[in-house]
Amino acid sequence: MNDLDLHLIHTYNRSITFVKGEDVYLYDNTGKKYLDMGAGIAVSALGYSNDEFKQGLKDQIDQLIHVSNLYYTEPVVRASGLLAAGSGMDRVFFTNSGAEAIEGALKLARKYAYLKDKGSKGGIIAMEHSFHGRTMGAVSVTGTKHYREPFEPLIGGVSFAEYNNLESVEKLITKDTCAILLETVQGEGGIYPASEEFIKGIRMLCDKNDIAMILDEIQCGMGRTGKLFAFEYYGIKPDILTSAKALGCGVPVGAFAAVEKFASAMYPGDHGTTYGGNPLAAQAVCKVFEIFEKEHILDHVAETAPYLYGKLQGLAQKYPSLITDVRGKGLLLGLEVTCGNAEIVKRAMEKGLVLLTAGADVVRLAPPLVMKKEQMDAGIAVLDEVFGDI
Ligand SMILES: *Cc1c(COP(=O)(O)O)cnc(C)c1O
Repeated sequence: MNDLDLHLIHTYNRSITFVKGEDVYLYDNTGKKYLDMGAGIAVSALGYSNDEFKQGLKDQIDQLIHVSNLYYTEPVVRASGLLAAGSGMDRVFFTNSGAEAIEGALKLARKYAYLKDKGSKGGIIAMEHSFHGRTMGAVSVTGTKHYREPFEPLIGGVSFAEYNNLESVEKLITKDTCAILLETVQGEGGIYPASEEFIKGIRMLCDKNDIAMILDEIQCGMGRTGKLFAFEYYGIKPDILTSAKALGCGVPVGAFAAVEKFASAMYPGDHGTTYGGNPLAAQAVCKVFEIFEKEHILDHVAETAPYLYGKLQGLAQKYPSLITDVRGKGLLLGLEVTCGNAEIVKRAMEKGLVLLTAGADVVRLAPPLVMKKEQMDAGIAVLDEVFGDI
C-alpha cells in the first residue's frame, strides 16, 4: 500500500500521480510525460486540449451548474435530442455513471415486463466474462465470479450464457425472462467483439419472446469502434442502450436510452436522480456531439484504427511466442499475451506509455480517438521495446 492511500479505501493499486493533460499526453508530478493509450479507460476521446470543449464547460459553469431534475434545463433537452438522434433510440435518461445506466436499463426492462404481467419474475440473461459496473444490480449481471461472490446476495433472476454462443442463450430463456443484456464488444472481459450471427440471433430471440435486448455500449460506443455505436455494424438496433465513458469525455455522465415501446413503460416517479444530466453534464454531452461532427472524429477513427491494428499485427508477427492474438474493433484493441498483461502495462508505463489490461491476459489499447498516426507509431515503438526486453 502506498502512503497516499492513508485515507483512501484501498480498492486500487496506484503508483503514479498525474497532474496535467495536453493533447494525447499526460504529465505526472515529477514532470515526466506519457503517451496516453488508455484515455482514462476509453473516456477522454477528445484528448486533453480541445479548447471548444473546455470553453463550453467554462461557459456553462458561469451560466448554471445544477438545478435538479425537477426542472427542465436547456442543455439536458438538447443533449437528449442529440443522443436520441445519434443512437436511433427515442428517449434518454441521463445518469452519473455507467453502472447507474445499467441499473436504469434493468429497471426499465423489468417495468415493461411488469406492466405486461404483474407476476413477472424479471429474469435477466447476461453473459459470461461481461462487465457492467460495480453497483449491486450491475455486479449481479457481471459475468466474473470474483466480482460477484463477496457481495451476495445480489439481485435475483440472473443467469449467464456463453458470449457468441446463441444456443447457450436460447436454452436459458423462460417465460420469466425480461431481458438479454450484453456488450456489443466485451471490454473488461478481454476485448471480444460479438459475431454478427450472435447479435442478429439475439435480436430475433428478443422479438420472438417480446423481451428487451439491452446493449451495453458504455465502453465500445461513442465512436470508439469507428461508428457512433458499435451495433451499427450489425444492421440491428437494441431496445435499450447504455452509454457512459466517452459520452461526457471526462465529465461524469452516463445514459440509458430506449425505443418508445420500452421507454413508455417508465412513469413519473418510477426512477430518478439528483445529479444525472445536470446542466454541466448535459452541456458536456452536447459539446461532445457537436465536436465529433465538426472534427469528423468517426472518419478519423475509421482511418487510423486499421493503421494501429496493422502495427499491432506487425508486433505479433515479430514476437509470436509473446503475442498470441490481436483483436478488437476500431480503437478498442487487445493484444493477448503470454508474458503477463500487467507486467507489459507496468514496463510500458516506466517507458512513458499508458496502457490498460483486460481479462486475464490481454493488453488493452483505447487511445483518445483524436490520436494521430505518428503518435501511434511512438506508442508502438515503446511496445516493441517492451516485448524486445522480455
Ligand atoms: C466501465 C463500464 C461500465 C461501468 O461504468 P462506470 O462508469 O464505471 O460505472 C459498464 N459497462 C461497461 C461495458 C463498461 O466498460
